[in-house]
Amino acid sequence: MTTLNLKNFDRLGLREALVARGLKSFRGDQIFRWIWRRGASEVAEMTDLGKDLRARLEAETQIPRLDPSDVRTARDGTSKLLVRLPDGREVESVLIPEGERRTLCVSTQVGCAMGCTFCRTATMGLLRSLEPWEITEQVLIAERILVERGDARILQLGRGEAGKVSRRLTNLVFMGMGEPLHNLEGTVTACRILTDPKGLAFPESRITVSTVGLADRIAPFLEQTKVNLAISLNAHDDEFRSKIMPVNRKFDMDELLRVVRDLPLTGRRRVTFEYVLLAGENDSPAQARVLSRRLQSVEEKIKINLIPYNPHEGALFTRPADQAIDTFQRVLLDNGIEKVMVRRPRGDSILAACGQLALEKTKSTPPRSLPLTRGS
Ligand code: SF4
Repeated sequence: MTTLNLKNFDRLGLREALVARGLKSFRGDQIFRWIWRRGASEVAEMTDLGKDLRARLEAETQIPRLDPSDVRTARDGTSKLLVRLPDGREVESVLIPEGERRTLCVSTQVGCAMGCTFCRTATMGLLRSLEPWEITEQVLIAERILVERGDARILQLGRGEAGKVSRRLTNLVFMGMGEPLHNLEGTVTACRILTDPKGLAFPESRITVSTVGLADRIAPFLEQTKVNLAISLNAHDDEFRSKIMPVNRKFDMDELLRVVRDLPLTGRRRVTFEYVLLAGENDSPAQARVLSRRLQSVEEKIKINLIPYNPHEGALFTRPADQAIDTFQRVLLDNGIEKVMVRRPRGDSILAACGQLALEKTKSTPPRSLPLTRGS
């Protein structure tokens, strides 16, 4: 019988896995709480399980832990955490303290298959998807680092089912290495563990998963979890989007907008469109006008984040001037797009573009797929 990784399941999945081994289903909830609420790192700590059951679980299961192999902190306080996986590969997370917020950007894959031309992770190709516990471990590592730093801010969650939960991270974004919806199962399970009121109890509203636009997986994803969804748009038309994001050749902008228009979003919930501004490529007022016309049909369901490009060594693109960024935002607002924000990237001094730190440490790893170049 294979050793069961108790950290690799959401609560329902853990119940099922334990029932399949002949245990009562309530044991799933009990053990889930021990691991995620009480931070148990060994079965021996689960003192309300009988001695025989503990002995059996110790023999048949594991509660693994990951640690960072490198942590680099920039002057603005942003830290890049390089996390070593059991197979020796590495992914990165970025911890961003900003006022009262402590945001962690997590990875979902080692490398990425999507080939976006503005992204350094793309040059690695896809090596593999992360398992759910390899995603949630990035969160636990960041929490430990904040505790070690003596970060005094502790978020106390409410009562009721959540009980008393102490966390230091306030927000999670799935925007690190990899395409989260290309690892749909791993991402959904990780989100369920993170938001479970009997687990880490992150509010769903504090988690954002960012996709390159895998249109056929957007609705299934939102059916399985209530976290926020962001879609990287980055272009005003299909011609340019296909150049910088090869995924557009499979799911073009019409398809993407149709999927968003049909989403049964309730209340004030909106999908975020991310638009990385690339100087001289997609940042002109005329392009903003074309974009605003294109988005009219989904305007009530979206908000737009404009993100000035953060160039890496050898990058094909540059960052627009502040005035061009402000003008682009103003044109969208003046043309009927109600919610348009500018998000300025932090951590420039430690290579904050996704994938850069991991690449630095693994220079000898040959890319599995060649990145597309501009104009291809
Ligand atoms: S931007 Fe995201 S989806 Fe595109 S290649 Fe980079 S990691 Fe993959």
